[in-house]
Amino acid sequence: MICGSTSAAWSGNRMDTLCCRCARPLEPDEIALTRKLINRGAVRFFCLSCLADHFDVTEEILRRKIRDFREMGCTLFTEA
Ligand SMILES: [Zn+2]
Repeated sequence: MICGSTSAAWSGNRMDTLCCRCARPLEPDEIALTRKLINRGAVRFFCLSCLADHFDVTEEILRRKIRDFREMGCTLFTEA
């Protein structure tokens, strides 16, 4: 299982967080979006395509949301 506390693996000196569902390495934006859409304290994260599938929307809509959140000054997206 990929899910759970071991979803983050060390690679070199930076931490790669993997999608909880398909194990793809995640972009900071994808982690931020998971936090924003699911739970700010989330410990399991999803890539854009898995999030899109989960919420039954397109990746394009999620990308637009990321942009909107950033323009709104959401700290989850400006910290990255
Ligand atoms: Zn995924």
